[in-house]
Amino acid sequence: MEKIKIGVLGATGVVGQNYLRLLERHPWFEIADIAASPRSAGKTYEEAAGPKWQMPILIPDSIKDVIVRDVQDMDSIPDDLSFVFSAITMPTKDQIKEVEFNYAKKGIPVISNNSAHRWTPDVPMIVGEINYTHTDLIPIQQKNRGFDKGGFIVVKPNCSLQSYLTAIYALEVAGYKIDKLIITTLQAVSGAGYPGVASLDVVDNIVPYIGGEEEKTELEPHKILGKVGEKGIVNDDSIQISSTCTRVPVTDGHTACVNMKFKDKVPSKEEIIKIWNEFKSLPQELDLPFAPKQPIIYLENIDRPQPRKDRDNDKGMAVSVGRLRKDNVFDYKFVALSHNTVRGAAGGSILTAELLKAKNLIK
Ligand code: NAP
Repeated sequence: MEKIKIGVLGATGVVGQNYLRLLERHPWFEIADIAASPRSAGKTYEEAAGPKWQMPILIPDSIKDVIVRDVQDMDSIPDDLSFVFSAITMPTKDQIKEVEFNYAKKGIPVISNNSAHRWTPDVPMIVGEINYTHTDLIPIQQKNRGFDKGGFIVVKPNCSLQSYLTAIYALEVAGYKIDKLIITTLQAVSGAGYPGVASLDVVDNIVPYIGGEEEKTELEPHKILGKVGEKGIVNDDSIQISSTCTRVPVTDGHTACVNMKFKDKVPSKEEIIKIWNEFKSLPQELDLPFAPKQPIIYLENIDRPQPRKDRDNDKGMAVSVGRLRKDNVFDYKFVALSHNTVRGAAGGSILTAELLKAKNLIK
């Protein structure tokens, strides 16, 4: 199969670097365009990103000498791009919204890691195993916005909720409705990009505040679990969520400690573990290249999951869960972990792109 040419906006950042690493040998997609801020534009990728390269591999040879383009220079976009991944940061969300709209208007689908469009009602916010039907919103968005050349925007949700939401969704589809969740996250420093959190703030320390993160953790699940309506997603507000988000001295891997209360039927511990271990969804049925074989892995060892030991399970795409036990206030509590820059960012978006391709929504 001839590979599809794609672009990465924000290719020099932490998430952008992960795209380059993960896509190096992708069977369907080939990187044909690299863009970042005006600071990097005109330089080779190695000159622009070399000093802040964080990946455990060398910069791929195929990328090193590519000249970085300015994200906002719309005239220099190669003609043959099928879509772009967006991992840019900008001073305001409105600026990001505008850039992403401009690509969609030009006919280029955008799969974004940014939070800017997460609450745009006709923009789907996708976790491949949960709400793959939300891609039905794409034709509605194209009509609403006059994207008549095939462009559209889809986004990926916040990285920390990837750790626990699939586990919650698996219980819901098995018929065990959740009433309340209390979530405490322990989030890795790579979640703040590069250079991110100052070392003196986080080494030997825990920072009990991450701007905007608790709101995202509490609100985004309602859209993800919602249904496609005529004008956009109709949220599902049936689960009450309260969260505390903290930054911890871990490089990669967001952990979430979750207390859950069921609405009526309460499954046994054995049933919950079986539901998690057996959960599969459309990405697994379609055998997509980035789909983890087992999306939720329950670890029996009493002291797991741990970021360093478990974040790379199934190439960083599986969610690792453990420590399921009775809760004295709610019904159960457990600990969940996912790789924030893979499952929670670049890898999750690559899976979304594969779903879109499998559904013929990108050419
Ligand atoms: P980062 O390391 O700070 O990288 C930011 C990227 O944006 C760089 O390529 C940078 O280019 C580019 N950029 C900065 N200012 C720009 C401008 N004015 N115009 C165009 N490009 C500009 O950030 P990151 O961690 O990769 O995160 C990128 C996005 O993904 C953010 O919205 C973040 O919230 C989201 N996200 C991150 C994670 C994570 O775990 N890190 C997870 C999920 C979602 P230069 O190198 O040229 O400055």
